[in-house]
Amino acid sequence: MTSSGNKNLYTVLQVGFPADSDAACLLLPNNVVISYGILHQESARYANLLVSLGVQPGDRVAVQVEKTAAAVFLYLGCLRAGAVFLPMNVAYQRHEIEHFLDDATPRLFVCRPESRALAGELAAKACVPHLLELGDDGGGSLAGSAAEHQDTFATVIRRGEDLAAILYTSGTTGRPKGAMLSHGNLAANAQVLHRLWGFRSGDVLLHMLPIFHAHGLFVAIHCALLNGSPMLFEPRFDAGRAVSLLPRATVFMGVPTYYVRLLAESGLTRQQCAGMRLFISGSAPLLKETFDDFKTRTGHTILERYGMTEGGMFTSNPYDDERRGGTVGFPLPGTTIRIVDDAGTPVKTGEVGNILVKGDQVFVGYWRMPEKTREEFTEDGYFKTGDMGRLDDNGYITIIGRSRDLIITGGLNVYPKEIEEMVDGIPGVVETAVIGRPDPDLGEVVTAVVVRQRNETGVSLTETGIISALKGTIAGFKVPKQVYFVDELPRNTMGKVQKNVLQQKVLSGNWAAPAEAYDEGRIRDN
Ligand code: AMP
Repeated sequence: MTSSGNKNLYTVLQVGFPADSDAACLLLPNNVVISYGILHQESARYANLLVSLGVQPGDRVAVQVEKTAAAVFLYLGCLRAGAVFLPMNVAYQRHEIEHFLDDATPRLFVCRPESRALAGELAAKACVPHLLELGDDGGGSLAGSAAEHQDTFATVIRRGEDLAAILYTSGTTGRPKGAMLSHGNLAANAQVLHRLWGFRSGDVLLHMLPIFHAHGLFVAIHCALLNGSPMLFEPRFDAGRAVSLLPRATVFMGVPTYYVRLLAESGLTRQQCAGMRLFISGSAPLLKETFDDFKTRTGHTILERYGMTEGGMFTSNPYDDERRGGTVGFPLPGTTIRIVDDAGTPVKTGEVGNILVKGDQVFVGYWRMPEKTREEFTEDGYFKTGDMGRLDDNGYITIIGRSRDLIITGGLNVYPKEIEEMVDGIPGVVETAVIGRPDPDLGEVVTAVVVRQRNETGVSLTETGIISALKGTIAGFKVPKQVYFVDELPRNTMGKVQKNVLQQKVLSGNWAAPAEAYDEGRIRDN
């Protein structure tokens, strides 16, 4: 293969780099500017370092570090050397790290200096040959070693199907699985999103997402690089800081929690957002209320899109046409979505079914899990996302939730999202998560976990209040039989409600008693 046929993702992204190598790429909080030229040179040093450590194309490089410019150099260095980048959430502890190292057998593990002792122990146990450190300030043995290498490197030739990254699924419901993404998968998605979201000259991305997840690492960084744009590259999301940086940006990508927190900032005004071109949300459902409030406050209509670790983005609201709150828009160009019943037959418009997806971005499979991979694809090559959704008359898709979250009570299906929306509509409710509680009689019973507003006189809402507000409005079997009140719903870093945590709390009985006792009479209402 000639280098012009090189499908290495770095080569694909490089096409978008500005002709002027001094043009800014990363604008760091300490006013340090990393130009595109430096990015290219530094990624070469990291690629040379990897080669010197014996990292061959296809070898895994596991990385558990904070978000820094050096972490980006390392990611790009891995791509250039043909290594498979394996980022880990910094929140992961012994149990998770052990699993990833054993499962992925990386050649190099890059950790934070403060977790060196644990990382060393686990790397030795998993026979990982090399361990280097990268600190929050970009220092440590990794950067030190890279600095000793040449700043030029001939990017390794890769085919589209060669692996570029393994991302472990967030595991809010089960053990994380390694989703294998190829150079071709990532390039296809980057090119489509770059075009669809209208990236243009003059764009500046405000980047506040973590980079151990597809959203911040792939969707955000790839769009900016492909556009040759600068990124205001912040170590983490901070609502006040985001508001202050908006006048310097044109595009923002966030999870719904970020939007809720932005709205809590009095500084979020039309004027502050006047130079913004686009706000994008995804990774978890954006409440219609947040969508509406954001529009009223800023004049901007958030563009919601949907995707997952196993392939990046699958659908998006349109850029130029109507963006509908509560929906995730249409399949991306080149992507086909089917919504089917459990037998695989397409459901009618408006009916809820399982979402299947096919497209060049859809992952290669789960790392070392050929059986699981086979199970998750249909015979004609559609990936079973595990999400449930429905299509409206105009083709907009609405996500109803994970199929595993579906509650079956007395043989009847209840979609948690439908009930969550109903409960959210009751005055005094801030937000709700609906889960199934095991029940010897009905299999499961609908259980609501509610965050309520408190008024000056104390608690304003009771379990009875919520249940009676729903009775007569929806079928009896859908009405929660129990309501728990919490101050806050447990969420992971990507803003997803951790229903498994709620389930465990309910199961273990490790919960403050519900406002009123469990009443058998309500079960009979089914
Ligand atoms: P992850 O693999 O961590 O990116 O999680 C992917 C899952 O997040 C999807 O399978 C959906 O269940 C959920 N998700 C992502 N985007 C959205 C969205 N816009 N609305 C609702 N759920 C979403």
